[in-house]
Amino acid sequence: MNVAGSLYGGVELGGTKCVCILGTGPDDVREQAVVATGRDPVDTLARIETILHRWVGQHGPIDALGIASFGPIDLVRLSPTYGSIRATAKPGWRGTDIASRFAHSCGVPVGCDTDVNAAAIAEGRWGAARELADYAYVTVGTGVGVGLIVDGRPLQGFSHPECGHIRVARMAQDSWPGSCPFHRDCVEGLASGGAIAARAGRAPETLSDDDAVWEYAADALAQLLHTLMLTAAPRRILVGGGVATARPGLLPLIRRRLTRSLGDYLDLDELVGAIDAYVCAPGLGGRAGPLGALALAVDAADR
Ligand code: ZN
Repeated sequence: MNVAGSLYGGVELGGTKCVCILGTGPDDVREQAVVATGRDPVDTLARIETILHRWVGQHGPIDALGIASFGPIDLVRLSPTYGSIRATAKPGWRGTDIASRFAHSCGVPVGCDTDVNAAAIAEGRWGAARELADYAYVTVGTGVGVGLIVDGRPLQGFSHPECGHIRVARMAQDSWPGSCPFHRDCVEGLASGGAIAARAGRAPETLSDDDAVWEYAADALAQLLHTLMLTAAPRRILVGGGVATARPGLLPLIRRRLTRSLGDYLDLDELVGAIDAYVCAPGLGGRAGPLGALALAVDAADR
């Protein structure tokens, strides 16, 4: 709960940039700043701490801090490496302790989750999934991630799910190897911004809407959504992230392929309503990430 007079800090740690935020929610963002994510985590985190300390000097103390980090990250609370980055394709960051470092440097409770889980939580609190206890947030950006909210909480087992790395059937005659360094042609290896750029030979934003590469991406993403629907039965699926947000034409392609992929197995109209409202854009757009970090802080202060 957000208490009057409270103030929260948030940090969205991304693969290319980190967004620091100060406020209490989408209607009360008092500061926001961006720090490039460098190869040296110690340097990057120190620059973030400098910003947070400056804000505290200007606005007063914060009640808690939320960290929404790229993954994989250890979220098992009793683990000795809780809040640390695990195996990652990002050079230099493996093993970096995030949560306890900020807890020490800021002296407040710290809430930590993946960037995509945090964005999903923000969408549930303030965005396009309000009042839903079961939904999914899919981000298509540098990578492909899924925040799967089940019974009001991000699903968590031995780790947070990494649905962006599930394997999918390839389109007929598609022999492009895929770009995931771990699996080659998983969803992320076929549909992320990096995959689209690698396949097309140029940045996704420079491609026309009718470039064939979007069909490949939509096909892999539709299979991801098919799998999500049949495993977790989310009541809504939001598709956001930098690539999807900048390309509104991608959503209709995904919906069409998803409907075809499911066949008549599910009565979509009866179970989830119209496909256009079921598979939709996030309500917070590009703000879901940093606002997700704030949402984690609000929850950490309540614990
Ligand atoms: Zn993969």
